[in-house]
Amino acid sequence: MKRIIIMLLMLISLVACAHKSEIDCNELQIVTSFYPMYIATLNIVDGAENVSVTNLTSTDVGCLHDYQLTTANMLMLNEADVLVINGGGMENFVQKAIDNCENLKIVNASEGILELHNEEHEHDHEEHEHNHGENAHIWVSISLYIEQIKNIRNELCKINPENAEIYNKNADEYINKLEKLKLEMHNELDNITNKDIVTFHEAFEFFAEEFGLNIVAVIEREPGTYPSAGELVDIIKTVEKTDAKAVFTEPQYFKNAANIIANETGRKLYELDPIVSGELTKEAYEETMRENLNTLIKALK
Ligand SMILES: [Zn+2]
Repeated sequence: MKRIIIMLLMLISLVACAHKSEIDCNELQIVTSFYPMYIATLNIVDGAENVSVTNLTSTDVGCLHDYQLTTANMLMLNEADVLVINGGGMENFVQKAIDNCENLKIVNASEGILELHNEEHEHDHEEHEHNHGENAHIWVSISLYIEQIKNIRNELCKINPENAEIYNKNADEYINKLEKLKLEMHNELDNITNKDIVTFHEAFEFFAEEFGLNIVAVIEREPGTYPSAGELVDIIKTVEKTDAKAVFTEPQYFKNAANIIANETGRKLYELDPIVSGELTKEAYEETMRENLNTLIKALK
């Protein structure tokens, strides 16, 4: 059975490659692993000639923890020249993609970022016993997202030097916008005194660090692992012990657990978006961050 599948995939890839060389041999086909990488890449390649960007996973997938490649995904990767990944362990399927698609170039947006970040925050580590090395939700920090933009830009310039000028120009403009957004958020959030928050999965660690928010409890670390009754009781106790005024759910995950905790503890329920799904537009990251900012102001001021 496995052999038949492999043969089928080979046949499909042959057809795909033949199709490619006939129709669009000049087009650089970029595939992004999931939503935030799509938005980042879309901004960098905007207006570049003979370049296409497609998102590998549908936007309701969210984070790619435990994601399994589908046959349709493999087909898409077979036709692609470049795969942009978040890295940091988010895309566990990437080795399989490399093995199956010989000519696919992988752009790891997080190359070098976590190492650098961990060095800079070594002191914090000892204090809070955080292990950032294991957290792949890098894009949720605006500063680290900017570093990802630079990585993607640098690699695309190497792969496709014909469009380097436009990639550089686009990246500069996008980074400027993101720096402004970061400043705006600091202006609003820096003077808030009680920054204790409760979040839904581990997506907000870097975001919290950037804006000095204090995550006092994480309700559900990843989708699919609903807390047991005992764990819920523990979480309720933890929340009650804190000064956290707000419990933050995420649009991508089920809300029952958060509702129970909010009811039991009398804390208000708000929605923070880790930007893993949404509109496929260039402005999506900034728009969602601004919504998050408004939510935080409502919840914490
Ligand atoms: Zn996640």
